[in-house]
Amino acid sequence: MQVFEVKKIGKIVVLGTGGTIAGTAASASDHTGYTAGQLGVQHLLDAVPGLNDVLQDVALVGEQVAQLDSKDMDHATWQILAQRCSHWLAQIDVGGLVITHGTDTLEETAWFLQQVLHSTKPVVLTCAMRPATALAPDGPQNLLDAMAVVLDPMARGVLAVSAGRIHSARDVQKVHPYRLDAFSSGEAGPRGWVEQGQVRWSGPCHAPEPHAHAPQALAQAVADWPWVAVLHCHAGADARQVRALVDAGAKGLVVAGTGNGTVHRSLLTTLAEAQKQGVALRLVSRCAEGQIVGQLAALQLAPLGLNVYKARISLMLDLMQ
Ligand code: ASP
Repeated sequence: MQVFEVKKIGKIVVLGTGGTIAGTAASASDHTGYTAGQLGVQHLLDAVPGLNDVLQDVALVGEQVAQLDSKDMDHATWQILAQRCSHWLAQIDVGGLVITHGTDTLEETAWFLQQVLHSTKPVVLTCAMRPATALAPDGPQNLLDAMAVVLDPMARGVLAVSAGRIHSARDVQKVHPYRLDAFSSGEAGPRGWVEQGQVRWSGPCHAPEPHAHAPQALAQAVADWPWVAVLHCHAGADARQVRALVDAGAKGLVVAGTGNGTVHRSLLTTLAEAQKQGVALRLVSRCAEGQIVGQLAALQLAPLGLNVYKARISLMLDLMQ
C-alpha cells in the first residue's frame, strides 16, 4: 500500500480503487475498449488543473487501496477500504475522504460504506465514464467537483459526485451504460449540484446512523460473511433457481419482485420452504423507481427505497453474527 503526503495543515485523503477514471485506452477516441484501473491515484490528482486553487492550504494525502475494474468489486476489497476509511476518518486533522471508483458498482460501495462507517465527516465517491486517455475525459472535472464537495462545510456522510451532481449513498444508482451523466437519484433527486466549483445543496445533508453490525463488517473474516444472493422475478421464473441457491448454502435471498413487490407463483412454495429452513428473505420491487406501497407481500420487505443490490448488502449485514 502506497502512502504519500503532499502538504500538511488539515488533510483531505484521496483513496484510489481503480475504475475507468484510472483507465487507459490505446486511442483517444476509444471510450469502450479500454482497461480500467491502470493509473495510480497520484497520477489522477496530477491531471486535475486548478486543484491547488480549490485546496488552498489544505493538504492532500493519496493512498492506493485497490486497483480494479469495479465490475470485479469484492467483499475483501470493501473490508480493506472500510478499514482505511475508518483509520483516516478517526484522525482529527482529516476533514474528509474522496474515493476514486469505477461506475459499475459505485452505488454498492457507497451504500456499504454508509452502513459501516461511524463518522459524520464526508466521504465522497467519484468516477468517470471515459478513460483518462480520452480526448475529453470526465474524470478530472469529477475529481475537482468531488474536492469542492468534500471541502464544503455542509457535506456529511457518504456521497457520490458525477457530472456536476451530488447523490446520497442511499439513492444513487447507475442508470446508463455510456453517457457521461450515468447516475440518477430517482424520485429523491440529487442532494445538490457543483456549479463553477460552488456547491449548491438541495436540502440539509446528514450522515445516517451506521448499521448495528458495522463492527463485524470491519473485523470479521470475509470468508465468514453470510452469503446473500439476489433473485429476480420474471416471466418464466423457475423454482429450481431458488433450490440451487439454498442447496449451495445461501443464507439470505433478496427477491426483486415484479411491480409492487409481487412474486411469481412458481417461486412461492419453494421460497416458503427456504424460509422454514432458516434462509432469510427480503423483498424489493424490480421497478427502477418508487418503492413498494402497502404491506401486501408474504415476504418481509427490505428497507424501503433500497434497490436490490443495496438491499443485499443490508441483509448481509443483518445476518452477520
Ligand atoms: N467497468 C468500469 C468500472 O466500474 C466502468 C467505469 O468505471 O465507468 O470500473
